[in-house]
Amino acid sequence: MVRAVVVREAGGPWCLESVRLPDIGRGQVRVRVRAVGLCRSDLSLADGSLRGDFPVVPGHEGVGTVEAVGPDVVGLRPGDPVLFFWTAPCGRCWFCVRGEGHLCDAAAGSGGGANGPGGSAAGPSGVEGGPGAGGGTIVLEDGVRAHPALGLGAFAEELVTSARAVRPSPISIPDEQAAVLGCAVATGFGAVRNTARVAQGDSVVVVGTGGVGLSVIQTARDVGAGAIFAVDPAADRRDLALRLGAHAAYPPDLTLGRTIRAMTGGHGADHVFECVGKASAIRQAWGLARRGGQVVVVGAGSHTDRLQFSAFELFHFARTLRGAVHGSFVADVDLPLLCERVAAGAYDLPRLVARRSGLDGVAEAVADMEAGRGARSVFVLAPPGAAVAAERGGASEGVGR
Ligand SMILES: [Zn+2]
Ligand SMILES: [Zn+2]
Repeated sequence: MVRAVVVREAGGPWCLESVRLPDIGRGQVRVRVRAVGLCRSDLSLADGSLRGDFPVVPGHEGVGTVEAVGPDVVGLRPGDPVLFFWTAPCGRCWFCVRGEGHLCDAAAGSGGGANGPGGSAAGPSGVEGGPGAGGGTIVLEDGVRAHPALGLGAFAEELVTSARAVRPSPISIPDEQAAVLGCAVATGFGAVRNTARVAQGDSVVVVGTGGVGLSVIQTARDVGAGAIFAVDPAADRRDLALRLGAHAAYPPDLTLGRTIRAMTGGHGADHVFECVGKASAIRQAWGLARRGGQVVVVGAGSHTDRLQFSAFELFHFARTLRGAVHGSFVADVDLPLLCERVAAGAYDLPRLVARRSGLDGVAEAVADMEAGRGARSVFVLAPPGAAVAAERGGASEGVGR
């Protein structure tokens, strides 16, 4: 048994429970989690705004150590430090062969990808094996079966997942900083470099400056964007955005469109990144782009949250509106450059991590995120000796909310 955070129903409390992990299947690994970050998508899965199965063990952004590998796993050994990547491309499907591993059929089919985040029993596809390569569900103490969010379920002392959902970590930085690379930083990095292809001198607006938005800002700065504007209702986040590379920061009020046009020669921005995942924020982002500019939807929104465009405005403004699943980040291709830029100091990771605690601090972290406070919350797990001792101590403990 290991301890894991479990949300039993949509909108229910996040409780620390003892769970039994599935046996390792073909193409899978068992990983001891060392640190895990709380992402906005975890909240959206737990409150039901993203489709998913319950009970669920949230968590898809983190760092750990391989404990054991199943049959047919190549390139990973017990003891390897690894980063988690929830898109887990299979390497063989139509999308993967085209170099679009972030849209992998297997990950989407598992509920872990573009078409229906929500986590599945089997998790992302196994190594070389296509979808559903072995594995089973997590079993709670009362026998109820739970699902690992996005095939990972990283809010746990250990997890069992596809070997394709983890990559050997090529960088030596503190766990709490490495934890945010796999989702927040990778998404921001990819959205700017792969999806939008921001060029030197381009103007950029970032709507929503949590962990992902702040990573978009830092990547835009790194690629030489000419002007970077941050938009967030929270003053402390606007402040952080300014420290991390934004040239100006504004609340999302009614004067915003006029302000951004005034700051961009009357035109609007070349690229607007929506990092909230709300129809209203996408609509606002649309109005901040120049004619011929683009709006990149980075946030994962709800399937019931709708927005409207007139036929004329789509024609007249000639803007591109596009989604960016995991920032179009493909770990096999992009991880080396990401780590190179991290090592070069392009990302202020200590500032990105606003709060750190053990798994028992998850309720406060969730409350902070719901209130839009701070950047990323990271949970650093106890070393292996302490975890074993705690487990011997027995029973589950509710952390309530
Ligand atoms: Zn995430
Ligand atoms: Zn694939």
